[in-house]
Amino acid sequence: MITGMIERNGKTYYPTIGLEIHAELATETKMFCACKNDADETRPNVNTCPVCMAHPGTLPVPNKKAIESVIKVGLAIGADIANFSEFDRKNYFYPDIPKGYQISQYKYPIVSHGTLGGVEITRIHLEEDTANSKHLDDASLVDFNRAGVPLMELVTEPVIHDAETAMKFGKELQLLLRTLGVAHANMEKGEMRVEVNVSVSTDPNTFGTKVEVKNINSFSAAGKSIDYEIDRMIKLYEAGKESEIVQETRGWDDGKQGTYSQRSKENSNDYRYFPDPDIPKYHLHEMFDLEAIKKSSPELPWEKRERYAKDYGIKGEDIESYVTDQRLGEFFEAVAKRLSNDKESVRLASNYTTSDVIGLLAKDSEAKIPCANCFGELIEFAVQGKVS
Ligand code: ADP
Ligand code: ZN
Ligand code: MG
Repeated sequence: MITGMIERNGKTYYPTIGLEIHAELATETKMFCACKNDADETRPNVNTCPVCMAHPGTLPVPNKKAIESVIKVGLAIGADIANFSEFDRKNYFYPDIPKGYQISQYKYPIVSHGTLGGVEITRIHLEEDTANSKHLDDASLVDFNRAGVPLMELVTEPVIHDAETAMKFGKELQLLLRTLGVAHANMEKGEMRVEVNVSVSTDPNTFGTKVEVKNINSFSAAGKSIDYEIDRMIKLYEAGKESEIVQETRGWDDGKQGTYSQRSKENSNDYRYFPDPDIPKYHLHEMFDLEAIKKSSPELPWEKRERYAKDYGIKGEDIESYVTDQRLGEFFEAVAKRLSNDKESVRLASNYTTSDVIGLLAKDSEAKIPCANCFGELIEFAVQGKVS
């Protein structure tokens, strides 16, 4: 039985969600040229060159670090790393993509299968980001600093059934990308972009027609757009207007807290994908030492959770604070070491850390994480009854 099913007025509805998540990779340079990849650059059009401006006759040279970053993510989630891989041209016209096509991957993504937080991953491929367009009242402006920035796209299977699970997945991916050091993945800066696919069916054995929601700039907006769509579709079913549920792209409007129809969905056929003849094919297993990449992986979030639970026996909630904030995690580990990993003292230290230390840090942006040794000593005094 599908979890997340919804009972309304005696009828049962089955929502299904699949996610498509883009993340800009934090490489030094862009995907196919030597321009700086700098999301913080505020002056428009300074990180540009003939390649990322799509001047005729220029040739793309793929960024090996970007490919390696996607491989790192794939290995972390236990996915298959393709041996054969190639780049394709995805053809469409828009001012933010002046070549008339985006270099992407179609048939041979670098990564396929794998799971993250219990959600099955279909694929992860690599592509180039588009330029940034800004629409004013009487003009549209295009900033090419972002054009050609390496962008990974992760697609999940349609196996999510509620907004909460979808948001949790997005946060777990963000944490993984940061832990691996491959992306900054700030949603509000557009470094990570979540698109949600939502459908609702009245039959547990078939999917309903899906819509795709874009323009989502926070995890909470992702969750709200899912709930909004589920509710909108159920209302259409209830009104006998299910034929009005059509496959389309919708946008999230933060002001109105709702979605609106943008355009009917294009098919992959419309893009006339074909292998980019300017870029060589790859045999990734020969180009990269996959074993070595795997061995050099830092401790992954779920490994850290397990170790903290086992070594310290602290609450899951506390563990989450240390896993999501690396500096706090390091502080806590140092405190635990100072306390010789004595479980009772460590638990007390964790209580003070997650309540008082985090509270003080949140209240004052100038506040610094305390010295772990001093803090450990203070906890020791408390345990010995030397201070209240
Ligand atoms: P498209 O051809 O429209 O791009 P895909 O099959 O490639 O569709 O899937 C795109 C995304 O939509 C994936 O994340 C997938 O899990 C999700 N998806 C596919 N079918 C459904 C559905 N019926 N309901 C919700 N999500 C779906
Ligand atoms: Zn360039
Ligand atoms: Mg698709």
